[in-house]
Amino acid sequence: MNASGDIITTRAIAYTFFTTTMSSEHYPAPNGMLPYWRTEPHRLDDCRSTDALPKESDIVIVGAGYAGASVAYHILGQTKPGSKPPSITIVEARQACSGATARNGGHVKPDLYNYISTVAAEHGVEAAGEVAAFEAKHVHAMKDFVDQENIDCDYTVTKAIDVQLNAQHYQKLKDGYERLIAAGCGPTKQARSVGANEAQSFSGVKGAVGCFTYDAGSIWAYKFVLHLLEKVVSQGVNLQTHTPVSSITKSTIPSAPYGWEVKTPRGTIAARKVIFATNAYTSALVPQYKDKIIPVRGTCSRIAVPPGSTAPRLTHTYTLRWGGWDYDYLIPRADGSIVVGGARSTFIHDLNDWYNVSDDSRVLEGAVRYFDGYMQRNFVGWEHSHAYTDRVWTGIMGYSADGLPHVGSVPGQSGQYILAGFTGHGMPQIFFAAQGIAKMVVDGVAFEETGLPRLFKTSQSRLDERENKIFHSTPQTGPSQAKL
Ligand SMILES: Cc1cc2nc3c(=O)[nH]c(=O)nc-3n(C[C@H](O)[C@H](O)[C@H](O)COP(=O)(O)OP(=O)(O)OC[C@H]3O[C@@H](n4cnc5c(N)ncnc54)[C@H](O)[C@@H]3O)c2cc1C
Repeated sequence: MNASGDIITTRAIAYTFFTTTMSSEHYPAPNGMLPYWRTEPHRLDDCRSTDALPKESDIVIVGAGYAGASVAYHILGQTKPGSKPPSITIVEARQACSGATARNGGHVKPDLYNYISTVAAEHGVEAAGEVAAFEAKHVHAMKDFVDQENIDCDYTVTKAIDVQLNAQHYQKLKDGYERLIAAGCGPTKQARSVGANEAQSFSGVKGAVGCFTYDAGSIWAYKFVLHLLEKVVSQGVNLQTHTPVSSITKSTIPSAPYGWEVKTPRGTIAARKVIFATNAYTSALVPQYKDKIIPVRGTCSRIAVPPGSTAPRLTHTYTLRWGGWDYDYLIPRADGSIVVGGARSTFIHDLNDWYNVSDDSRVLEGAVRYFDGYMQRNFVGWEHSHAYTDRVWTGIMGYSADGLPHVGSVPGQSGQYILAGFTGHGMPQIFFAAQGIAKMVVDGVAFEETGLPRLFKTSQSRLDERENKIFHSTPQTGPSQAKL
């Protein structure tokens, strides 16, 4: 473990050299910009449990975000009382929880009718309903978990208000919502539809033409993840930050018990099993996922209000939706500030800004001013609030080409597992997806026995699929269209 600024600088320089030499692949950028959620770093932020990397480890988890920390937690939880837990090493390229998890909107909002309606049209209502139910379960089960573990992460269960600002798009969503209910999709029934007459007074959003509302949560995800990491490290997990994995290869020793070699600039770890919790960056290490999990840059901001402001206190979370691709999402914070993400209308027309981009070291220029006056423009009663943009940051999401996460055994690679491709929507998916992976890793159960939604299973047929649905819900993009 270290506390020295000099050591960190040396690590950053070494990592810059590493990423420069590996520049054609998507590795985490060495110097991601500082998001609001990382302004109170935990003591394990730069943790190296041991000075040198372990030579061997039963399980190596690559990535110390929400997925990596959750899977480590669940693996230890799956170990039978009295039996020795497997040795686990978590290898993280930058600081602990420095990827998307620490750069997001903090919104734990299940999808009960929106993309689920599209999924139902393609895969059937039963399969789509499994996904919706799985996501809905996260909201309250995570609250129970946070209470039980006494995790200081501002986890709050409230109502999501999904505000529609375009009548045509609202009608399309409402038709899908009603079709799901008519088809008996149980989770969709948890959402209430609010019609045009009431929409503005119900939501407090100017120009609302309809709303949907249902249970959702908000979270300081960095604090949640660092709590998990602290717990697993105290139980013997070896956490190695500032250690980018450059490749994973088969052991050169035939029939070696540690079948995989995890290579880093600091040395190699021999592993029996490797779990990729690398989300947007997966394809650099597992090339089968190139064009299947694509790094997509997004942006969030924190809007603050000065002391004595007349701003009404928001208690719900919101989505403001102008169309299929044009929407923002926001959560209120206990100090009266708001975290807002989206701003897609300001950059989506140029693919170079956001598609297949893994650099989170700078802002999306077009989006910076978007958040100024945001609350005043959109929320009734905020006109004289003097709310101002306190901070804007970027983050890299892992969009899967078919819109669904990849969870399970990496096809054709015995002993490798993946938990990635959360398509900007991981908060209501990852914690229990990680529990499913833990069952596979510890008990050797098949994906089908984990209880995870069948559509999350990674498979060769999904890897062979050529269609890229990311562009189904984007406007015609500008100069870089040729990249498609
Ligand atoms: C701007 C933005 C807003 C978002 N808003 C929301 C929201 O409100 N609600 C929601 O549900 N979701 C949201 N998301 C998505 C959500 O944050 C992600 O789905 C989730 O955090 C993914 O967690 P993860 O652990 O899989 O990935 P990450 O948190 O990105 O963790 C992956 C880790 O792997 C490490 N890594 C990668 N490659 C290597 C390597 N070669 N060697 C070592 N380490 C490596 C990375 O450094 C990183 O720390 C948002 C994302 C962004 C970027």
